[in-house]
Amino acid sequence: MSKTRLREHNVVVKDLRDVSVLVGYCYPSTYRAGMTGLATHLFYALLNTRVDVSCERYFRYDVPSAVRSLETSRPLPDNHIVAFSLTWEEDIINLIQMLELGSIAVEAKDRTEESPIVLVGGPVVSSNPEPYVDFVDAFVIGEGDLVIHDIIDAVRDSPSRSNALEGLSEIPGVYVPTTEPSSVVRIIIEDLDSLAYPTSQIIPDVLEGSQLEPVFGKSFLTEVTRGCGHSCKFCLIGHICRPRRTRSLDRLKEIIAQGLEASPVSKISLIGSSLGDHDGLEDLANWVVKKGVELSAPSLRADSVTVNLLRALVNGGQRTLTIAPEAGSPELRKVMGKGLDDEDIHRAVKMAKDAGYNAVKLYFIIGLPNESQQDVLAIVQMVKQLAQTYGLRTTVSVNPFVPKAHTRWEGEPQSTVEALRQKLKLIETGVRNVPKVTVEGVDPRNARIQAALSVGDRSIGKVIQLAAKYGGLGGWRRAEKESGISFFSVANNPRYVDGKVPWAFMSS
Ligand code: SF4
Repeated sequence: MSKTRLREHNVVVKDLRDVSVLVGYCYPSTYRAGMTGLATHLFYALLNTRVDVSCERYFRYDVPSAVRSLETSRPLPDNHIVAFSLTWEEDIINLIQMLELGSIAVEAKDRTEESPIVLVGGPVVSSNPEPYVDFVDAFVIGEGDLVIHDIIDAVRDSPSRSNALEGLSEIPGVYVPTTEPSSVVRIIIEDLDSLAYPTSQIIPDVLEGSQLEPVFGKSFLTEVTRGCGHSCKFCLIGHICRPRRTRSLDRLKEIIAQGLEASPVSKISLIGSSLGDHDGLEDLANWVVKKGVELSAPSLRADSVTVNLLRALVNGGQRTLTIAPEAGSPELRKVMGKGLDDEDIHRAVKMAKDAGYNAVKLYFIIGLPNESQQDVLAIVQMVKQLAQTYGLRTTVSVNPFVPKAHTRWEGEPQSTVEALRQKLKLIETGVRNVPKVTVEGVDPRNARIQAALSVGDRSIGKVIQLAAKYGGLGGWRRAEKESGISFFSVANNPRYVDGKVPWAFMSS
């Protein structure tokens, strides 16, 4: 990307003479990915609303510098707190590289009283922070909007960095590895309506289709729900973000009305898991569309869609319905706790066609526990039937099973790369000649890395550090060899010490 400064709306620049705590909010991946997530907008707003804080943003890629803020080119190490949001396991490599590029000691033990505090939150570490303890001073375990102000107060009021870390270790939901706590509580907010919401969201002034445009376009992100009331055995959200909470229809309308005034957008993107379970979703969708703005919704459960909801989304400009059958065979869906019948899936795709959609995206998982070849072929069968019956453009997204800490399938071994490749090939070959069907597959080698990082313990920190040095997929192989740690086999047989999982000290 050129060094020309990117123009954005709703950026906050403060006079540093008036603030006490400098925060660098870091997203360890592309600008586009970071600006697509609500967390960036949420923490930016929460922090900058305080008169005593200046929060500026850093991204690993597609910005003029990974270690100078977008707002004022503030050097990363000038911040008191360097706060990362870790959404994807493999982004730990980018996180380490940002520290290195910013001349911040990569290992927490090498930092001094003058170093910033490296704080990390997000779903990855809220599930299992242990692989990352070498690099992090403090983790936020759970929903950070509940504790962010306590963290800032502790840092502001502490006479030294070490004193601040001691203070952080006493905040419920914050895990400071050097204090070796016997237990850590994951914090969950009960009432979404009572929370502050970022209505002035940062909108990049870029052309449609630009690599800097957020995934949902220039839109106002509206979080409708948190967590999920279902609990599919493989799903992290269904286990660590419980119970499911929803915003009321009135509060959602208030947020959207304020958001449309404060953010220069003509599109609303709804966010949340299992969104279709929200009683007021149909009303909300119709209300948004009547305002003359575009509307998009994420993946919906096939058994929760209604034709009126889909019509409203089509009127709001959405043309692709995304649903996640996860498995082709009803038996396997039952075993995994998905609770969807073939009829639910057919009904949803038929409704999509009737409502005016022209495409569907279907998510599947391969390599599930007890999965047979017949189960994989059932995916082919389902895709063929749906594509041939309804004639919609169909994208099949195939993801390998990754065991995640705290889920009911946390101890299930992951299939080998070879087995996953064969299954993916079976699907690709099976639908090759079906018109309007395309298959997108995640590289099984990435899935192996994700699995090791998901269920590994702190011993793999050495592998992570070497992999960050070498970079790329090959870097992980080289790191495994040099460290002598069987990193790629971690998820074959998760290593549990004294019969305990590495994350046994965490509770909800
Ligand atoms: S897979 Fe979807 S429905 Fe199942 S627990 Fe996760 S978010 Fe909920």
